[in-house]
Amino acid sequence: MSKIPEYFGSLVFNETVMKERLPKDTFKALMKTRQEGIPLDAQVADVVANAMKNWAIEKGATHFTHWFQPMTGITAGKHDCFISPAGAGKVIMEFSGKELIQGEPDASSFPNGGIRATFEARGYTAWDPTSDAFLKDGSLYIPTAFCSYGGEALDKKAPLLRSMSALNKQAMRILRLFGNPEVASTTVTVGPEQEYFLVPEKLFRKREDLVYTGRTLFGAKPPKGQELEDHYFGELKASVIDFMKEMDEELWKLGILSKTKHNEVAPAQHEMAPIFAPCNVSTDQNQLTMEVMKKVAARHGLTCLLHEKPFARVNGSGKHNNYSISTNTGVNLLEPGDSPKENAQFLLFLVAIIKAVDEHQDLMRIAVADAGNDHRLGGHEAPPAIVSIFVGEELESVLDAIEQGTECTGKGCTFMKIGVDVLPPIRKDSTDRNRTSPMAFTGNKFEFRMQGSSSSIACVNIMLNTMIADALCGFADELEKAENFHEALNELIRRTIKEHGRIVFNGNNYSEEWVQEAKRRGLLNLKTTPEVLPYYVRKENVEMFEKHGVLSETELRSRYEIILEQYSKQVRIEALTMLEMIRKDILPAVSSYTGDLSVQAIHKQKLKISCDLECEQIKKLTELSEKLYAVTQELQNSVDNAESFANVLVEAEYYRDEVLSRMVAARTAADQLELVVGRKYWPFPTYGELLYGVK
Ligand code: ADP
Ligand code: MG
Repeated sequence: MSKIPEYFGSLVFNETVMKERLPKDTFKALMKTRQEGIPLDAQVADVVANAMKNWAIEKGATHFTHWFQPMTGITAGKHDCFISPAGAGKVIMEFSGKELIQGEPDASSFPNGGIRATFEARGYTAWDPTSDAFLKDGSLYIPTAFCSYGGEALDKKAPLLRSMSALNKQAMRILRLFGNPEVASTTVTVGPEQEYFLVPEKLFRKREDLVYTGRTLFGAKPPKGQELEDHYFGELKASVIDFMKEMDEELWKLGILSKTKHNEVAPAQHEMAPIFAPCNVSTDQNQLTMEVMKKVAARHGLTCLLHEKPFARVNGSGKHNNYSISTNTGVNLLEPGDSPKENAQFLLFLVAIIKAVDEHQDLMRIAVADAGNDHRLGGHEAPPAIVSIFVGEELESVLDAIEQGTECTGKGCTFMKIGVDVLPPIRKDSTDRNRTSPMAFTGNKFEFRMQGSSSSIACVNIMLNTMIADALCGFADELEKAENFHEALNELIRRTIKEHGRIVFNGNNYSEEWVQEAKRRGLLNLKTTPEVLPYYVRKENVEMFEKHGVLSETELRSRYEIILEQYSKQVRIEALTMLEMIRKDILPAVSSYTGDLSVQAIHKQKLKISCDLECEQIKKLTELSEKLYAVTQELQNSVDNAESFANVLVEAEYYRDEVLSRMVAARTAADQLELVVGRKYWPFPTYGELLYGVK
């Protein structure tokens, strides 16, 4: 393999390729579209499309696809060949500007939450020119947003782009108030750290639960879990090294800045972190990364598990969303600066985020709500379901001093007045970080840690962008009217800290005291998806999303329906998988073991030898399997009774209260049986085999 800089981005139609292959004017027009969102005119689009097609064909592509991110959480696209009849039985390869800009997939089979009227099944995909097209599996992939014919978003990308532009608009108002004539625009930057498990593929295939649901529905604790803490940052196994090497190469070819790889806390758990990119690009690239991980793993005899809680009793997998806002001139707005002006500006953005998160804790929780993540939040090393912000010791003492109007007396702190003083140095040292915080300020960005590993980062960034835009909008409204900017600014920051400081918590988020303290502070603690989803359509949230043009009430309601529907379907699939595994695998295995023990007992009796051991075992097996059988019947009944609910919320609550609780009971009984049944009888690979099976 050649050197990384030589093949990095070789599968991407990026700015370098555009510059090489497009006439100067076309290149300029395209850059304007990318930077300012000005639509391309039809002729220019034809030239761009033609250049893209030629480039793709030279690299072996035959098809193109409008690649989109429907509400299923994974990506989709249909693949059209470039061929076009040329007469006399011949074809030519064609691709027009129209085909580049807009596609018309049938929208009828994607989740739409009641948006799409049945008579209008069509949807359309619209090119996102700010995310580069790329080559994969013989097709030219064109990143797009997916909407209904009425223009309503049917995907995660359209509202993400809208939220980015809403935030830009408000951030620019603030930057103008501080001067900054050189800044033309701002962008949200995101670096998503991706956790995952690798297990041997042949063992994965033997577990229906992993195949159908992505997580184990059974499994007794193996003698060794993660208690020795010997896996984190540990030596990589040979096949994991090979996997990671090929994964990096594939990602680099796709222009994805894969930077860091290491073992995570749980056995068989790993992490990959890319260098941050603009929010929509990192969203696309994270989806692509997950797909590449799965494909590359299969080539190494491994299966990549992206589920957020594939195994009970060890850590689940998260996706840390590192978030900041930067200007087109390269200034990170969440980085304390060197001058009083920069610091005042930084503090204003910081308190905007504090206010936004405090006012919309519910949205942060909704952004990470699904059946899988409900098992993880509050579990092993995962942040709890309570949303709070960590700012660190230095900033906390500054915020306290501002609130009380006193001089900052914290360590090494000389900060007194906003807009006059420079902030004390803020440590970025990772040892100082509070790993238990759901949203930690880490020196120049926020790291949001509640997100589950399998879901798209679009939702959380739609929420953050919109909430922060809303807070900044309120600030700009107030400050634009102020007679004395500095006085108004000081007053505003102080008031915001006073009103929203309750969301700041620097202690141990895993402790029981925090649960109590959070309650006293009036913070939300919403544990399950059905509990949190009603907040989505709360009046204040609807108004905010509509005000900033991110989601209409219809779009919001459709999302509410889709998420709840998916929750119920997910739990149902899990319950059915459990029933099948119990009936077809576990109970027959127990019978066969019990049968062999009985034969042995009879044999011993004939020889007049004690068969107490076998009889004890048989008794235990019978008791446990009867218990399992009884809860299985109950589980079956609860699934059978879950027919035709008129209301998605009532249905999801039913699955949570009636079905999930019985699944827990069934699992408990089955896991007890696993500990008693002989190894060669147990019908599928155990936790020990899965977690330690990779060589
Ligand atoms: P760790 O959190 O593991 O110590 P880093 O702090 O270096 O590692 O970065 C974690 C992630 O945060 C990386 O994906 C990195 O690119 C991203 N990141 C760093 N700076 C920014 C920023 N300004 N905006 C968004 N993401 C950032
Ligand atoms: Mg991190």
